[in-house]
Amino acid sequence: MTDCIFCKIIEGEIPSVKVYEDDHVYAFMDIMPLSKGHTLLIPKSHKANIYELSSEEAANLFSVAPKIAQAIKETFEPVGMNLLNNAGEQAGQSVFHFHLHFIPRYGETDGFG
Ligand code: 5GP
Ligand code: ZN
Repeated sequence: MTDCIFCKIIEGEIPSVKVYEDDHVYAFMDIMPLSKGHTLLIPKSHKANIYELSSEEAANLFSVAPKIAQAIKETFEPVGMNLLNNAGEQAGQSVFHFHLHFIPRYGETDGFG
């Protein structure tokens, strides 16, 4: 999709800090991190949200999710982590290419209370 910023990131038209890539998925650092190490995991095919994802695409994403979480854990040493997806504007979705947030947590110091 030509006007999708995440498709442009996959194509390399918009720079990103890559965390992981294979034939099906791409993971990169969030540009406005909610905490240190905030990472996004996306399918390479443009799907707006969870409702448009096929089971196979979901499986491809979740098959690498533990590896990505482990890499974040080892690199940033958080004390916990939230995995999150916002589906729909009313749920806080601002980029309409499916993405799974990995938000490392640092206890009292991470500002979430
Ligand atoms: P949403 O609000 O849709 O769940 O999350 C979108 C996320 O994408 C936000 O956390 C936002 O900071 C991130 N984001 C938006 N534009 C860019 C960009 O151009 N590059 C990167 N790396 N992240 C982006
Ligand atoms: Zn897209």
